[in-house]
Amino acid sequence: MTARDAVADLRRIAFLLERANEATYRVRAFRSAANSLAALPADELTARAQAGTLTELSGVGDVTARCVAESLRGEEPVYLRRLAATEGTDLDATATELRTALRGDCHTHSDWSDGGSPIEEMALAAAELGHEYLALTDHSPRLKVARGLTADRLRRQLDHVAAVNEALPKGFRILTGIEVDILADGSLDQEEELLARLDVVVGSVHSGLGDERAKMTRRMVIAIANPHLDILGHCTGRMVASRPAGVTGPGDRAHRRARTRPPSDFDPDAVFSACAEYGKAVEINSRPERQDPPKRLIRLAVEAGCHFAINTDAHAPGQLDWQRFGCQRAALCGVPANRVVNTWRADRLLRWTATHAG
Ligand SMILES: [Zn+2]
Ligand SMILES: [Zn+2]
Repeated sequence: MTARDAVADLRRIAFLLERANEATYRVRAFRSAANSLAALPADELTARAQAGTLTELSGVGDVTARCVAESLRGEEPVYLRRLAATEGTDLDATATELRTALRGDCHTHSDWSDGGSPIEEMALAAAELGHEYLALTDHSPRLKVARGLTADRLRRQLDHVAAVNEALPKGFRILTGIEVDILADGSLDQEEELLARLDVVVGSVHSGLGDERAKMTRRMVIAIANPHLDILGHCTGRMVASRPAGVTGPGDRAHRRARTRPPSDFDPDAVFSACAEYGKAVEINSRPERQDPPKRLIRLAVEAGCHFAINTDAHAPGQLDWQRFGCQRAALCGVPANRVVNTWRADRLLRWTATHAG
């Protein structure tokens, strides 16, 4: 294959990162590497790429060096390919289309755990937003700070949801569910028989977020392989900022207490290939203080062939409208609408969750 223009590829990456509103330091890294390399004679560039000494040059790091090596081999750099997925699309229009295509929300809380409102209010607000369904996913027992539901309370909640569903407008239903803690050994924090009964199971890591990489990866992959888990919730656990000004809500204690928190460390290739292999969805969590996964990881999950769920993780009715934040991030990362499970009708969604283990 004939070599590509490595400098042009780096500049293209910088442009696309900027277009996708990525952090300035990341854009600069590619621009300064491009400038450094543009000053080199072509044969020195090739010689350094072959000898692996590009990173000795100022402004050239591991990631940019890898891109250059790929370009010189005549391949489109993987980094560029991921970004190019959204090239030429109107990102705002794509985000709006995606939001319009959503038929429901698969991660929400009520005042049975740490939410601020009764189930009925959450359901009515969701119906008014035009949703066809709302999965109620209150916390599991070990998350005591969030009043996680014991098996008995969850059984009572299931009876209650059945009664509420009877009274709701036609064309709308509450799906039963849980946001179940992924425990230290990768098992799920609720009785097997109950997990099997629920419509939607979101599994999230809420403890031991500082686990070292290999342990966290193993823990997550075991949970993803568990037939009861349908959706991997806010996979890095990061907190990017405290609540934005003007956005308040009752309840929501667990979320408000945390300020910023770094993402947990795991091998994203292993985690996302497990999601693709077992047919599980990666959640795009719409909460402004979470923005989880980071865009870099969403792009990796797109490439891995994963399904997605664009969820609000709402703890109050008004927060059910936060899906547009998740849609913007999904559009920036080239997430195809047909791979977003909550664009599906409830019956298709339930057939999909049933293929895992009911
Ligand atoms: Zn959570
Ligand atoms: Zn949640």
